[in-house]
Amino acid sequence: MYNTEQEKFFLQQSKLWIANDPEKDHLDELKQIIDYADWKYYVMDNPVLSDGEYDTLFKKLKQLESRYPELITADSPTQRVAKSLTQSFPTVNHLVPMLSLENSYDANDLIEWDRKCRELSGEQVIEYCVEPKFDGASISLLFEDDLLLRGATRGDGVQGDDITTNTRQIRSIPMGMAIGKKGISLLEVRGEVVLTKEKFKQYNERLIAEGIPLLANPRNAASGSLRIKDSTEVSKRGLDAFLYHISFWQTVNGERPYQTHYESLQLLHALGCKTSLKDAKLFQGITEVIDYCAEIESGRDALPYEIDGAVIKINRIDLQDKIGQTSHHPRWAMAYKFKARQASSKLLQVEYQVGRTGSVTPVAKIEPVSVGGVTVSSISLFNEEVVKEKNLMIGDTLLIERAGDVIPYVVKSFPELRTGIETPIIFPVNCPVCREVLYKPEAEAVWRCTNINCKAQVIERIIHFASKDAMDIRGLGDALVRKFYEQGFLNTIDGIYHIPFEQMKGLEGFGEKSILNLQQSIEKSKTQPLNRLIFALGIRYVGETTAKTLARSINHLHDLYDMSAEQLCQLEDIGGKVAGSLVDFFSHPDNRRLIESLELSGLQLQNMQNVHHEGGSLNGKTFLFTGTLTMKRSEAEALAEAAGGSILGSVSTKLNYLVVGEDAGSKLEKAKKLGTVIILTEEEFMRLIK
Ligand SMILES: [Zn+2]
Repeated sequence: MYNTEQEKFFLQQSKLWIANDPEKDHLDELKQIIDYADWKYYVMDNPVLSDGEYDTLFKKLKQLESRYPELITADSPTQRVAKSLTQSFPTVNHLVPMLSLENSYDANDLIEWDRKCRELSGEQVIEYCVEPKFDGASISLLFEDDLLLRGATRGDGVQGDDITTNTRQIRSIPMGMAIGKKGISLLEVRGEVVLTKEKFKQYNERLIAEGIPLLANPRNAASGSLRIKDSTEVSKRGLDAFLYHISFWQTVNGERPYQTHYESLQLLHALGCKTSLKDAKLFQGITEVIDYCAEIESGRDALPYEIDGAVIKINRIDLQDKIGQTSHHPRWAMAYKFKARQASSKLLQVEYQVGRTGSVTPVAKIEPVSVGGVTVSSISLFNEEVVKEKNLMIGDTLLIERAGDVIPYVVKSFPELRTGIETPIIFPVNCPVCREVLYKPEAEAVWRCTNINCKAQVIERIIHFASKDAMDIRGLGDALVRKFYEQGFLNTIDGIYHIPFEQMKGLEGFGEKSILNLQQSIEKSKTQPLNRLIFALGIRYVGETTAKTLARSINHLHDLYDMSAEQLCQLEDIGGKVAGSLVDFFSHPDNRRLIESLELSGLQLQNMQNVHHEGGSLNGKTFLFTGTLTMKRSEAEALAEAAGGSILGSVSTKLNYLVVGEDAGSKLEKAKKLGTVIILTEEEFMRLIK
C-alpha cells in the first residue's frame, strides 16, 4: 500500500504540520497523512501518531476545509464524522446475491466435497485457498470511481439494508480506494464486520457502568451495532472489518483484474483494505487443507477476534466459474465449521455471590458439561432480570454457550422439557454472607448489600486489588486472600503491605520460599502505573478503560480529590454515573485514609507518563534498542527520532533510554551496571513517545 519512502515522508510531514499551520495547497497532503495514519492504526495495527497528534492534524484539516468548503471531497477523512440524527435504512439490491456457504463439520465432509469438485472440474488435483471464517456480521461494500458509494447488510442475500453512514464509522474500511489506477471502475466487495474480544470487553464494561445486562458475544454486538440509528454511537464501539471477497467488478478494458482468489485478496490488501491475507494459505489437494483447518481451530483462542470456522475456496477463478453454483450456495466454496461451543445441561441450584461493590449475583450451578473443550459447572446469571427474562427454574435443561475466552452464558432454557418437579428461583432478601437487608435502586437490575464491612465485600475488594489486571500481585490469589482473612493476617487493602509474615513461620503451606516470592511480588506491585492503581481501588463503574482515561488526565492521584462531576464528565467516555461514583469515592474519609496509607507504603501515586513529558518532548534524549521487538528495529528508531530523540550505537553514560525487547543480552546487563540508564519495555517506550 505504501512504500518505505512514502511512509517516511508522511511521518516527517505529519510532524511538520503538527508544528506549523498548513495552507490551502497542503490540504491534499494533510488528507493523505491522515489516511496513512488511519491505515497504520486500523488496518496494520501499528499506530504511528499519538492520539493527540492525530487530533491536531484532524483539527487542522477541518479548519482548512471550513475556510475552503469547495475543496471538501467525499473521501476526505472529515466526512467520516458521525451524525447523531436517527437514520433509516432503506432497502437496496446487491449487485450479486450474497449466497451463504455450505457447511462441513469433519474431514470426511471435506474429502467428499473435494471428490465432487474434481469430478465437476475434470482436474486431478485442485488448488484450494483456506482462510479463517470470521464470526461477525456480513456486509457488502460498493466502490465506484475510487469512492465508497454504499455499504449494506446481508439482509436476505438479495436485498440488504443501506447502512452507508454506519460503515463510514468503521475505520478499517477505506472511504476511497485507488481502484482507477488498477483500471477498475466499479467494485463490489464482501466482508465481515467484527468486534475484537478486547473491544467487546470494553463495551460490556460500559454496559456494566450503565447497569444494563451484558451482551453475550462479539457477534451479536457487531451485528447489533451495524443497525444502530445513531451513528455517533456506532463510532464509539470500535468495529473492525475484514474484506475477503470481490463479488463484482467492472474494468476499463473488460478484463478480470485477478485470476485467483488469492490474487483478489492481494489486490484488496494493496488497495488498503484489512484482509485475512496473513492467514490465507494455498494448498494442492484436500489433505493439507484438513490439517490447516485443524491448525486454525487450535489457534482460535489466541486470535484477537472470534472465528467460528475456516473457509475453503477453489483458488482458480476459471475453475470456480466452470463448476458454478446452486441456487443456495457456490459449489466452489465450503465453510468448515469448528466444533460447537454449545452444550445442554441441568440447572441444579442457584447460589448468590456478593461482589466487591456489594452486588449480589445469582450463579447457576449446573451438572458439569464440556463446552468447547472446557468443563463448565457454574455460570453467572448476572441479575434477577436475566433470570426472569430467560424463564429459568431449578431443574430446567439449559442451552449453554462458550465463545472463545468469553465467559460461558446461558442461551436459553427449554420449558417444553419440564416434568413438573421444577421449582422457581427465589431471590434472597438478605445478604447471604452478612444478613444485611438487600437494597435495589429503582432503575437498576442489581440487588446490593450496603454493609461496607460485609466480609464478602472486603475479601472481594482485596482479591480485586491484587488481581492480574489490577496490581498483579502474583501468588496472592482468591484462596490465599480468604485464608489470610480467616487467620486475621489481612482484612484491608492496605493491609497487603503490612502482612505479618514473621507470624507465619511454621504455618502449613508457607515455606520460606513461598513467603519470599509473595513478599517480592507485593514489593514489585508498588511500582505499578497509576492507571492500574486506580482500577485496583475497585471504584464502582470504573473499569480498566476508564482508569486509563483518568490516569492520563491527572498528574497525581490526589488531583481526583478535588475534581467535580462536571470536570470529570469532560473526560472521554465518562458519563454522569461514573463521575458521581468517583466524587463519592474520593470524598469519603475512609477511602482517603486508604490512599494515604498506600502512599506511605510507597505506592506510585504520581502519573509517571506525565512526568516524562515535562518539557513537552524528548528533544536531546538518546535511545538504544536491544533484543527482539514486536515492530521492526528501524521503525522503532524512526519513532524515537520523530519524537525528537536520537539513536546511539552502544551503552554509555550518554545513553538516556535503553528499550528492551525479548532475549536482550549484554547491553541490558551493561545498562543495569551503569545505573544511569532508564530501562524501558517496548510498551513503556510507546507510552513515552505518545
Ligand atoms: Zn453483606
